[in-house]
Order: sequence, then C-alpha cells, then structure tokens
Amino acid sequence: MSNVKMVEAPEGHEGQGFFATSLDTVIGLARANSIWPLPFATSCCGIEFMATMGSNYDLARFGSERMSFSPRQADLLMVMGTIAKKMGPILKQVYEQMAEPRWVISVGACASSGGIFDTYSVLQGIDRIIPVDVYVPGCPPRPEQIIDGVMKIQELVKNESLRRRNQPEYKALLESYGIE
Ligand code: SF4
Repeated sequence: MSNVKMVEAPEGHEGQGFFATSLDTVIGLARANSIWPLPFATSCCGIEFMATMGSNYDLARFGSERMSFSPRQADLLMVMGTIAKKMGPILKQVYEQMAEPRWVISVGACASSGGIFDTYSVLQGIDRIIPVDVYVPGCPPRPEQIIDGVMKIQELVKNESLRRRNQPEYKALLESYGIE
C-alpha cells in the first residue's frame, strides 16, 4: 500500500472525460501547494524553523521545500525571532519588495508581540509595521505548530479570490501601514 497522499481535487463538475471548476479554485490550489517561503529568522525561533525544514518534519511535503532568500521570488514571509526597532525598516523593505500576492506568518511570541522583551529597543509585534495573516504562538513554537501555521496559510491561499488584491479594502489595509 502506498503512503503517498494526493491533494484532493477541488469542487467542480465531473463527467466522463471532463472536469470543470472555477479559475479561482485552480489557481488557489496551485498556489497553496507551491508556496515559496522567505525565512526572516533573527533568533531562537529560527532554529525551530530549521528543524521544520529537516527530514523529520519535512516542510517539503507541503510543496515549500524551496526557500527563497530573495524577496523577488518569495510569496510567504516567515518572520521568526526578536525584531529590534532598528530592524523594523529592513523587514518592511523586504515585505515591500515581495510581489503580490504575498502572505505573512509571524512565528513565535517575539515576532507577534515582542515576547518577553518588553523593552525600548524591541518592536512589540511585527503587525505594527506590516500586515500579518497568521500568528503562531509559543516561545518557541514547536515545528508542529509552525507546520500548522503554514497549513493555515495554505487554507487562506486556496480560498482567496483573485480579485482580493485589487479591492479597495486591501488597498486601504496597505495604506494604513503606509505601503502603496
Ligand atoms: S519567541 Fe522565544 S524562542 Fe522565539 S525568538 Fe522569542 S525568545 Fe526566542
């Protein structure tokens, strides 16, 4: 018996020799299973991410084995670790350099809220400078939690309308962060 699991077919109309579904669904399915993450790892949470990429947890199973260390080709920004206020503009610049559609995961307490570093030099959550789609709790989160976060992103990607990025609500969201 094979252990290989195929991605389930999307909803649609099936008959002998044909299958019909919407363009949104097909593109969502392809995008969700070929996400290219950009790891922005600054401290301990980044080590958990390394374990997530290792053979035991194997993020490659989700189509995300190809790390993108250039914002140009990435579509998922994974922020892992403490972000000092000095580093904030750099993080924002990386986000701005990513092409649409792009998603963001905030991994761990530091990236999500500053964590234990309630101090003048640490950004108290990356959502103060860029929009975040999924938060992964923990200090540090285990690889299973990081995988859960990626799966939540996959759900968002799969169900996102192709029109969302052109809608006024999305533009207003970016404008609220000072991003054009
Ligand atoms: S949340 Fe905890 S484990 Fe993660 S970077 Fe902060 S201090 Fe380190």
